[in-house]
Amino acid sequence: MNHSIHKEKITIIGAGLVGSLLAVLLAKRGYRIALYERRPDMRRTDISAGRSINLALANRGIYALQQAELMEKISPILTEMKGRMVHDIEGQLNFQSYGQKPEEVIYSVSRGELNKICLNAAEETGLVDIFFNQRCESVDFKNNQITFVDENTATQTLQQFSQIIGTDGSASAVREAIHQQTSQQHEIIPLGHSYKELRIPPGRNGEYLIEKNALHIWPRGGFMLIALPNADASFTVTLFMSNEGNISFENINSAESVKAFFDEYFTDILPLIPQLTKDFFSNPTGKLATVKCSPWHFKDKALLLGDAAHAIVPFHGQGMNCGFEDAWELIKSIEQHAGDFAKIFAQVNQNRKINGDAIADMAIENYITMRDSVRDKKFLLKNALAFELEKRFSGYFCPRYSMVMFHRLPYSEAKSRGIIQEAILNQLTESIQSIKQVDYALAEQLIKEKLSPVSLNPN
Ligand code: FAD
Repeated sequence: MNHSIHKEKITIIGAGLVGSLLAVLLAKRGYRIALYERRPDMRRTDISAGRSINLALANRGIYALQQAELMEKISPILTEMKGRMVHDIEGQLNFQSYGQKPEEVIYSVSRGELNKICLNAAEETGLVDIFFNQRCESVDFKNNQITFVDENTATQTLQQFSQIIGTDGSASAVREAIHQQTSQQHEIIPLGHSYKELRIPPGRNGEYLIEKNALHIWPRGGFMLIALPNADASFTVTLFMSNEGNISFENINSAESVKAFFDEYFTDILPLIPQLTKDFFSNPTGKLATVKCSPWHFKDKALLLGDAAHAIVPFHGQGMNCGFEDAWELIKSIEQHAGDFAKIFAQVNQNRKINGDAIADMAIENYITMRDSVRDKKFLLKNALAFELEKRFSGYFCPRYSMVMFHRLPYSEAKSRGIIQEAILNQLTESIQSIKQVDYALAEQLIKEKLSPVSLNPN
């Protein structure tokens, strides 16, 4: 709903996924927005949209997009992924469903197309002015002025602001500015692993060359390859591997070693990546790190959201989803504390910081799950049991993956419930081979004793 009375102007730095969605959400509530972006307009210039080419969109992200009334435009560009397709070293396939109900799926979406839809929607509100090629260089909180540098001409300009929201990604300039004013703590924790994107093109007749509706994983213990489908029948393939050591980006550094490495570990996919060595050396190697900072705000003047506040490693497919959820949480706080930005920013910080930390930790854990556990019999047994317990005790037990991906309870709660559930699953599967052997009376007793009833989708 467009409010007819225009409220004050809010400045957003960074028109990536989170900044552009936030601009839509705020404008729909009557705020005028000045949105500044360092890069050129991706709708007019052929630039890569940033890190990964495609992303997994899940329930939390979809919910925020629905609040912005954008899903009608986004649905046509989504490709359903119903589960993991695990490729073992012999080329055998094992499909592991993500959920139990038809709607329990995640979606592959093009980062660029999604970003463009949000930018268009922001402009269509008539309340959002977007300034491209403008890099926020510094923020003067005393005089409420931001210094921008034009990326083409190097010209500096000063802009006044009332409130700034920093959605300028993991190397945030707004975070740096807040840091200089306060005793803000921020840490950048490198993962020690990086990623490289490759591509499986469509087949001769425009067909998908591997299963379309799955997230493919080639788990190899210390490293892995994954592939997500694109709408044009290609797949974006990502290699995750250590920076240093025996099998690492440091050592696999020639056309011969790349070829030999794929030949040994990814035999089944090798013929499907015709440009392997070319892409390996022309595509950048992306570093991975977790960024944690606190607080996320400075008085009533500035707030960080998205990766600027909490960059996480990509293994739960939640960075963007979490950022979209941040944006919606800000809107809820604005509605609660109309116009009082000191309260609004403090509340968002209080509600979201623990959740940002929780998903950051779960994302790191999920790297081990993806690159290793998914091929482990015990993991599969516990997964099967988790589905069974969800069916039998639905008000109490929900698999952790489902809590994170298909529901909206706070991440911190998903994490703490997940720890209790894992202990229950370990106890129940200690000396059995099949879920038919599970003592379900004991399961019920443990679940009701250790878990409170769960509210999966709070308002
Ligand atoms: P960004 O997307 O980084 O956007 C920040 C914007 O700010 C950019 O447009 C940038 O140009 C601009 N900017 C930066 N500095 C300035 C400045 N000083 N002045 C002006 N503008 C500036 N998340 C998921 O939910 N699902 C996934 O499957 C998934 N897969 C991923 C795979 C990989 C390999 C990686 C690296 C990440 C993945 N993520 C995924 C995480 C996701 O990409 C991020 O969480 C998401 O992009 C965060 O959005 P953002 O808008 O906060 O930041």
